Amino acid sequence: MGEQKKDYMMKRAMNKSTFISASNYKNRWFVLDDRDLKYFEGTLDKQGKQKGGVELRKIKAVETVEDNVLDNKINVFQVVHASQKNNEILTLYIVAQDDIQRQDWVTKLRKAAENADATFIPKYHKGVWISGNYTCCNQISKNAIGCEVTSTEREFGGTPSGLPPPPSIPAPSPEPTPKKIFVAVYNFTPTEEEDLELLQGEEYEILDDSREHWWRAKNKNGRTGYIPSNYVKKKFDLEMFDWYYKNSTRERSEAILKEEQREGCFLVRESSAPGMFTMSLYTQENDGQVRHYHIKKNDKGYYYIAEKYAFPSISELVHYHKHNSAGLATRLKCPPTRSGTSAPATAGFSSSKFEIDPSEISIGEQLGAGCFGTVHEGKWRGKRVAVKMMKESTMSDDGFIEEAKTMTQLNHNNLVQLYGIVTKKRPLIIVTELMQYGSLLSYLRRHKARLLSKTATLLDMCSQVCNGMTYLEKRRFIHRDLAARNCLVGQSTVVKVADFGLARYVIDDEYTSSTGTKFPVKWAPPEVLSYTRFSSKSDVWAYGILMWEIFTGGVMPYDKMKNVEVVDYVCHSRQRLEKPSACPEKIYKVMLQCWQHESDKRPSFVDLLQLLGGLLEQGNYPFIST
Ligand code: ADP
Ligand code: MG
Repeated sequence: MGEQKKDYMMKRAMNKSTFISASNYKNRWFVLDDRDLKYFEGTLDKQGKQKGGVELRKIKAVETVEDNVLDNKINVFQVVHASQKNNEILTLYIVAQDDIQRQDWVTKLRKAAENADATFIPKYHKGVWISGNYTCCNQISKNAIGCEVTSTEREFGGTPSGLPPPPSIPAPSPEPTPKKIFVAVYNFTPTEEEDLELLQGEEYEILDDSREHWWRAKNKNGRTGYIPSNYVKKKFDLEMFDWYYKNSTRERSEAILKEEQREGCFLVRESSAPGMFTMSLYTQENDGQVRHYHIKKNDKGYYYIAEKYAFPSISELVHYHKHNSAGLATRLKCPPTRSGTSAPATAGFSSSKFEIDPSEISIGEQLGAGCFGTVHEGKWRGKRVAVKMMKESTMSDDGFIEEAKTMTQLNHNNLVQLYGIVTKKRPLIIVTELMQYGSLLSYLRRHKARLLSKTATLLDMCSQVCNGMTYLEKRRFIHRDLAARNCLVGQSTVVKVADFGLARYVIDDEYTSSTGTKFPVKWAPPEVLSYTRFSSKSDVWAYGILMWEIFTGGVMPYDKMKNVEVVDYVCHSRQRLEKPSACPEKIYKVMLQCWQHESDKRPSFVDLLQLLGGLLEQGNYPFIST
């Protein structure tokens, strides 16, 4: 066993304590041979006795770590591997002396692991797990799936053993960072002068990605301008493929594919199990049904659905099954159409404007009316939008205008996008994304008979709302009026949360005071009713009530009780809504957790998301087809 490489570098202790101190780092001799990466104590001039090591075939990923996130260290790389004892996934952090040494180790280690038949994982964290979450993606479970595609996966899905290893790359010269090439996954028509048009499938170089939602980019003709960052995906990422629906749940995928009703229409999504993928496929058999296939990996790390046909990457697997059904219900034909209408909303304006010129809005049919005004369908810059016209003097302008600036910057697939507002003229107008099926409450009531037997559909609605709320919670944005009436339904039963944060700017006392007639008492927890103390945890209470609305098909909570009676029932007798008859016990338990009297005992939205995800994927609900 020839020694391939040997260097004196710093190693971070692998203890599981979250307490980090300088003594967590030790200088070690690292020795790489054909079978192991071993480390030894010793000084620069003398190697001491072995302290530990990692078997190469147990390596799952070798990647660099973002500078400064691991105790402010730079030139760090990580060796993700399965432990000798129980295959628990561990990460060894090594601090190299400079970037050249680091790159050299990463390249050599990867190659050696490959030769030792290691199975690489598709994703990793480029940040580290500190005090309860990852610095890169804010996930709170230490075992959460990685948020970045590994380099091995990026080159089209792993370079498993059996294939000739890639030519070894010499240590990179310290040349400027490589160009960031992204691919447009949707068309984008500029609305502002400084915007750049995007054509689906074309490549763009990203010049400035320092802002969250709008990046400066250059097209192949050298034109530059702003583009919405959620319309492009990194080249070679799975996400650049039009059939990849990363976060889609089983229910969501069924809804999307059934809407298209096309033989062979398919998509690939992440499974709930980390690092696993599922393919969902529509066939005309039995009047149209969706089949779900787990994409498995063999011991070489190849992906397959039918064991005989395995490929180094998912895209190659998809390519193969486009030509051969080989075990699938039908050949793969095409992904669902992501036509203009289902392109995600863009956040605010590329420049930081949020004021809309009222002459650019044309107003159509009325969609509904609430306490504070009417909502119309409308058109703005070629887009169909919802136009909410506020009744005279119901809103305190100053606060709201400031807030609107923040709100146009919120962008999530389960939040109704705020495009901008009109404040220069009366009435005050709020322009948002249009949701074609209207409020969730009326949707539940309209489809009650059909929906109540479909536990997973209802659960999926809950988890969509929870997704949107998790995004708000992370940004410490409190909704204050979460309820089924304030959620809206769009194509393929997508559910989005609306009217977030607006409640604060309403002037009407009947609405803002907890004793007012318009105050949403039935959605409010004890601390709001007693001390008007709003928090993300008061949103969680309201969310529990919203789950109850979903599982009853839109019944008014505490139906026959007056508001004062509800306060007494909830705060003093500490009673709770009963389990809806269509609701499984496990789901009712989640509601009860949201209704813990003490706010800090309630789960957060991040917790809820995991709970619901678990329940949904257990999937033993009657109507799910396999
Ligand atoms: P409230 O929340 O008090 O019921 P709103 O003014 O928020 O009143 O909305 C009134 C109705 O208008 C909703 O119930 C819904 O049917 C419709 N509506 C509101 N916003 C939209 C939208 N973005 N897209 C489609 N319909 C909407
Ligand atoms: Mg509303």
